[in-house]
Amino acid sequence: MSMSITLKDAGKKDGVSVFVVKGTTPAFVNAIRRTIIGRVPTMAIDVVEFQKNSSAMYDEVIAHRLGLLPLTTDLKSYKLRKECSCEGAGCARCTVKFTLKAKTEGYVYAEELKSSDPAIKPVYPKMPIVKLLKGQELEFEATAVLGFGSEHVKWAAAHAWHTHDATVKLNQKHADLAKELEKFPPQALKNGKLDADLIAEHNLFDVVDGINNDICKVEYVPDTFLLHVENFGQLKTKEILLTAFERLRLDVATLEESMKSE
Ligand SMILES: [Zn+2]
Repeated sequence: MSMSITLKDAGKKDGVSVFVVKGTTPAFVNAIRRTIIGRVPTMAIDVVEFQKNSSAMYDEVIAHRLGLLPLTTDLKSYKLRKECSCEGAGCARCTVKFTLKAKTEGYVYAEELKSSDPAIKPVYPKMPIVKLLKGQELEFEATAVLGFGSEHVKWAAAHAWHTHDATVKLNQKHADLAKELEKFPPQALKNGKLDADLIAEHNLFDVVDGINNDICKVEYVPDTFLLHVENFGQLKTKEILLTAFERLRLDVATLEESMKSE
């Protein structure tokens, strides 16, 4: 069977997209999963220089919060610093500058950051950075660069996990049904009855498997996996997957080149 990937659920309800990956092994899906989490670059604030901070939070706490703000990321226009022609010095192709000046009483929100590139900005404008009391001030300049989730989770584009795909056969007329139902998780029940759609929706295959095979029989689909991707907002989910595949391909190409020169 040749390998394929199709979108099963675009995640409109809970933000988790689900893909069906066919014709592969748990090890290979896991390689994709790890690449999604650790090897898809995104933009994040990495260095902050404070000019003023009389808020209740220390500089380093605010800097940490700034690092964790998801930023819209443009992988076509920006390069990793170590792969940039400036050789890590920092230039417009690898670095975005943010400034913020605030002295109004109340919350300072992510949307108040002024970016050197309007295309790169906080994904969630209403994320609070700090709360200022009367007379308190905050002023800083921050530098954002591309990085990998494997270096720091602030650069992770998404959380991803995978499960076996399965089907469920239910026998709602079993003599022991009433007695056995309490062994099943409440998320698998709808109006007091087992529901195959809910079991699939909440990914409860492993949970209900083996409770009572005469009432609920789980059959795993061979070589088929569900890849769940929870996007943090910097990139579109499709771009995250395509970038992950490209990274895997590049890594293998690097090995290939190395092997050829042996
Ligand atoms: Zn550069």
